[in-house]
Amino acid sequence: MKRIGAHVSAAGGVENAPLNASAIGATAFALFTKNQRQWTAKPLTQKNIEKFNAYCEEKGYEKKYILPHDSYLINLGHPEKAGLEKSRNAFLDEMQRCEQLGIPALNFHPGSHLKKISEEKCIDRIAESVNIALDKTSGVTAVVENTAGQGTNMGFSFEHLKHIIDKVADKSRVGVCYDTCHGFAAGYDIRTKEAFEKTFKDFEEIIGFDYLRGLHLNDCKKELESRVDRHDKIGEGTIGKEGFQWIMNDPRFDEIPMVLETPDKNLWAEEIKLLYSLEK
Ligand SMILES: [Zn+2]
Ligand SMILES: [Zn+2]
Repeated sequence: MKRIGAHVSAAGGVENAPLNASAIGATAFALFTKNQRQWTAKPLTQKNIEKFNAYCEEKGYEKKYILPHDSYLINLGHPEKAGLEKSRNAFLDEMQRCEQLGIPALNFHPGSHLKKISEEKCIDRIAESVNIALDKTSGVTAVVENTAGQGTNMGFSFEHLKHIIDKVADKSRVGVCYDTCHGFAAGYDIRTKEAFEKTFKDFEEIIGFDYLRGLHLNDCKKELESRVDRHDKIGEGTIGKEGFQWIMNDPRFDEIPMVLETPDKNLWAEEIKLLYSLEK
């Protein structure tokens, strides 16, 4: 089946995320395991962890349907030593939080070269950062997200993602999360059946579905290949409802977390229902 949820709030403690997900009828969800706008956070307590486990069980969430997102501050391809160190330490902390919570994957944005190093060097650095974190943890997969290619962000082409995967030593612990808005803004069309098939044929040939660990379901406010990252409500943006219908009827997207990051959280319950209604 399709597992659909949203990036829900964990305000007040990670244990609130499964409760918030359940309240909107989600069958998967994303969360931040710490405040995403601060570099450091207090460690998870035993109480946080126990409650998180208890609520996940009570609400029926297996850990494989939970895909946490790392902090927006982290840049694993940072061109400067200090920034890179800080990012790598923060990323390791987030991987360890997933380990503690028994969550098998962490979703991250690849990184930016900030016009100070080449694209290639930046991508190599991202892969090296992943290797460092994987070496120090176990049981958690680093899941790289495709980007819209805004500013100097890397990861907007399937080739970038493939390049990162190629340089990660442990292939069993690296994966990809495909964001539909970012993909569209980067030039990957899914509006028609033909365009959808072409995009995911390329995905299969360049990256491979074996690496697909999650989806972010977002409509897009900007045009195809605009390279601008602005999410819209499902069915109301430049992708439109039809694009999501192809996903909902394709078994290659079964049993992985598919997460809304659309702008109005009051509509998430409705958007989840809308998506399920597209299944034939
Ligand atoms: Zn996303
Ligand atoms: Zn985005």
